[in-house]
Amino acid sequence: MARVLIIGAGGVGGVVVHKCAQVPSVFSEIMLASRTRSKCDAIAADVKARTGRTIETAKVDADNVPELVALIRAYKPDMVLNIALPYQDLTIMDACLETGVHYLDTANYEPLDEAKFEYKWQWAYQERFEKAGLMALLGSGFDPGVTNVFCAYVMKHLLDEVHVLDIIDCNAGDHGHPFATNFNPEINIREVTARGRYWERGEWVETDPLSWSMNYDFPEGIGAKKCFLMYHEELESLVQNLKGLKRARFWMTFSDNYLNHLKVLENVGMTRIDEVEHDGKKIVPIQFLRALLPDPASLGPRTKGKTCIGCLMQGVKDGKPKTVYIYNVCDHQEAYREVGSQAISYTTGVPAMIGAMMMVTGKWSGKGVYNMEQLDPDPFMDALNKHGLPWVVVEK
Ligand code: NDP
Repeated sequence: MARVLIIGAGGVGGVVVHKCAQVPSVFSEIMLASRTRSKCDAIAADVKARTGRTIETAKVDADNVPELVALIRAYKPDMVLNIALPYQDLTIMDACLETGVHYLDTANYEPLDEAKFEYKWQWAYQERFEKAGLMALLGSGFDPGVTNVFCAYVMKHLLDEVHVLDIIDCNAGDHGHPFATNFNPEINIREVTARGRYWERGEWVETDPLSWSMNYDFPEGIGAKKCFLMYHEELESLVQNLKGLKRARFWMTFSDNYLNHLKVLENVGMTRIDEVEHDGKKIVPIQFLRALLPDPASLGPRTKGKTCIGCLMQGVKDGKPKTVYIYNVCDHQEAYREVGSQAISYTTGVPAMIGAMMMVTGKWSGKGVYNMEQLDPDPFMDALNKHGLPWVVVEK
């Protein structure tokens, strides 16, 4: 029976609250806090209508450590689930250390003024969490998150060594807008417009943004889609933790329409993250763009189709070459019917709830900062099947 504080009332935060509320035997008390309290209250009302459970709500500025500390001291949770933005990772980790509470997030720290994400800032907390006897679980979403657990599962049960890893993320859903992002527009656009990077023979190789592509034939009726090579944060920990790895890449599908809009926005300077002067005021173009684009949390009712995210892994088992493809398919409309969100928020929110469940039930425990593949994949994989993200393994 655990008491949890969830921070961030956006598209993903809403799913996390719904999913925690569905498991009262584990999550007995839940508080949702965010910058805008009315968003917390709206989610709490929806959860009440669907499950009958009461969710407490609060306003908090997660950039402000003393404010976070005061809230944590007042509510006394067993752990904090950080579902706000990557900019808040370090302040929330600081507040957890100060109050002696376990920590979980879904995306690694990113400084506001530089479009760069790396684990180094959060890995630097290793000693402090270890000394405090606390656990920080990093990247408990789908990718990162489930993709790391898929890798750990394949290494535990299906391959002795993995030589080539391709993580392939397909969103074959259609929301009907000319242009919208499926999670926070600012974070999404910063990620997609960054230079590509993959790992080969012990080194990182850089590519121009979205300059490499391949076609992949996705299962369960999705069919062939064009996928683009991108850098993605789970590669950083996986290349350290997977034995025998020679190459690791991450691919994501984008429609021509999305890419054309993005190109125009980039060309006119709307994706810039530095301040510009407008009418005597300083504005950051990408933040202004975020205010114009549809809120990802509003895409649920209109998004139709499926997502398919998985890991294609080539390696060796009992001395023989073997290829394994392990994936989940999630239907946008089914996710909407269950929790009122599209599948991108759903596929991120469910693993966040499961990561928290692993921690509060003691199935995953430890002192220090952990990436998902460092923990036993089996209980997490079982929970995926039970809580809405069933997975499939194809051995080739
Ligand atoms: P949203 O923008 O929809 O939601 C973010 C929420 O955080 C908003 O409610 C926002 O408040 C709140 N917030 C922002 N700043 C603060 C602050 N200083 N203090 C308190 N609350 C704050 O984003 P998403 O729900 O789409 O994404 C949430 C997280 O999930 C992001 O970190 C994203 O990178 C990650 N993610 C991870 C994925 C994975 O597979 N691992 C996939 C997709 C997303 P307000 O409403 O007032 O603006």
